[in-house]
This record gives sequence, structure tokens and C-alpha cells, in this order.
Amino acid sequence: MSKIIDGKALSLKQRDIIAGQVSEFINKYGRSPGLAVILVGDDPASRVYVKNKRIACEKAGIKSFDYHMDTDISQTEVVSLIDTLNAEDDVDGILVQLPLPDHLNTQEILLRIDPSKDADGFHPYNLGRLLMGSPTIVSATPYGIMLMLKEYNVSIDGKDAIIVGRSNIVGKPMAILLMMAHATVTICHTHTKDLGAKVKSADIVIAATGRPHIIKGEWIKDGAVVIDVGITRTETGSLVGDVEFDEAIKHASLITPVPGGVGPMTITMLLENTLKVANGRKQ
Ligand code: NDP
Repeated sequence: MSKIIDGKALSLKQRDIIAGQVSEFINKYGRSPGLAVILVGDDPASRVYVKNKRIACEKAGIKSFDYHMDTDISQTEVVSLIDTLNAEDDVDGILVQLPLPDHLNTQEILLRIDPSKDADGFHPYNLGRLLMGSPTIVSATPYGIMLMLKEYNVSIDGKDAIIVGRSNIVGKPMAILLMMAHATVTICHTHTKDLGAKVKSADIVIAATGRPHIIKGEWIKDGAVVIDVGITRTETGSLVGDVEFDEAIKHASLITPVPGGVGPMTITMLLENTLKVANGRKQ
């Protein structure tokens, strides 16, 4: 059996299911679910992500409203656009592509999104619900990882899981989800002592740092499951993950590749979140 978790295949399967549910939504309510995406500036990676999201939305039958703003747009203008979208009936979900330029206050902007339209699950209300153990909208990347683990029959209950990275959008929500599934969770970051020893003791390793190959293959315990969230573009244009894949696969029972692992699942779960907020607004 292959040790590789095929995020691309799994996401295509999931997108078919979502497309079917979107059709049901359209039949029931006479319109498509709508996702507004706000992109500020010209960061090439962000442009690619936004384009991929639009294509995925269209394929699934979700209407995509794209707002591409100049880099020097003011805080007031972004906030005012969010207020407009919050009030717009055809817009079920709103997402702001991160990172934003430095002069903008990301926290204030994310807070301004109506939590019931927060397709990314980054609003403190939705993060708080997750923390309380009754999640509503869950950040797409950790949500997609949980689906991957389920689809590949990875047993989580009682296992030791390590997460390297503590961001609000990946590391922290991932920790809560794994804890809810009864793993014993360790979160590591730049101040962690002896990362290698901690990784070596883990049954499930989630790497989310954006530091290429920081997780050495020899650290992986025999039989561990390795999920590589990190994506870094090298000078030659190829994408690399946080994990030394070629060595790690010798020890892992299952491992995600980069690209073709977590990335496609993130977009898929964003589609699912959009449908979820759309259905939620109809209740
Ligand atoms: P952030 O930069 O917000 O967080 C990175 C985290 O990694 C921080 O907590 C940081 O620690 C930790 N870290 C950095 N260097 C080290 C180190 N040497 N040792 C231990 N910990 C370290 O990143 P994100 O969470 O937003 O994203 C992480 C990666 O995942 C990026 O490559 C990003 O592109 C990718 N990503 C991929 C997605 C996908 O769909 N595949 C979706 C989202 C992100 P500290 O807090 O101490 O600074």
C-alpha cells in the first residue's frame, strides 16, 4: 500500500460531493452560494491562491465575487468594503487573502467580518467556538487535515501528536481539533528546546512553519503519520515543504507530499465552509 496521502485525489472526491450539495442548495433557494474574496496588493503567491480559489468555486457551482484592491488602499476603505459585503444578500462568505500589507490592521479587518459569513473561520467568534469545543466554521487547513486523517483511517485517540507552528490559522486550531479527537498534543515553535527529540516521540507530526526541510527525516518515528503543511517556493520555482520527504517516507506509515498534499484540501474545505455559511444563513 502506498504511504503517500494523496491530497489531490481526496480533494477531487470531496469537491464532487460538495458540487452535489451546491446543486441541492441552488434547487432549494434559486441562487448559488456566493463567496467574496478580497485581495489587497500584488503579492504573486496570493494572486495564484485567489485565482485557484475562484476556479474551484466556479467548478463547484459557487459564485465568486473578487475584489482586487490597490496596495495603498486605506484601512477605512477595506473596512467599508467589508461592511458592504456583510450587508449583501448574495454574499454568503467573505474572505480576506492574507497576508495584508503592513499598513493595514489585519486583526481589525478580520474582526469586522460578520462571523456568520466568516468562510475562513479566522474570526475570534469562530475561533472561540472551536476553543469551547463546539466549532462552527473551522479554519480550512486544519479542517482539511482532519478529513485526510479520517479518510486514511488514522487512529488519533490516545496518540501523541506534535504540531510545529502555533499560528492562529494553522497550528492553534489544529491543536484544538486533535485534542478534541483525544490526542495528547504538543505544540512547538521557535522557542522550543530540542525539537528533534519531541518529533521523535510523536505518532502524528504536523509541520506548519514555512521553513524548508526543518523537520529532519531521521526524526520521524517508525510508523508515524506525517502531515506537511509548509509551502515554500525555492529560487528555481519549485515548491518544498517543511519535512525532508525522501528520508521521512522511509520511517513514516503515511506522509503528505508537497505539492499535492494539504494544499488542495485547504481549497476544498474553503468550498465546504462557504456552503456551510450559506446554509447557516438560510436557517
Ligand atoms: P506563520 O508564519 O504564521 O507561523 C509559522 C509558525 O512556525 C510560527 O508559530 C513559528 O514560531 C513556527 N516556526 C518558524 N520557524 C520555526 C523553527 N525554526 N522551529 C520551530 N517553529 C518554527 O505561518 P502559517 O501558520 O500561516 O503557515 C505555515 C506554513 O504553512 C507556511 O509555509 C504557509 O505557506 C503554509 N500554509 C500552507 C497552507 C496549505 O494549504 N498547504 C495553508 C496555510 C499555510 P513562532 O510562533 O515562535 O514564531
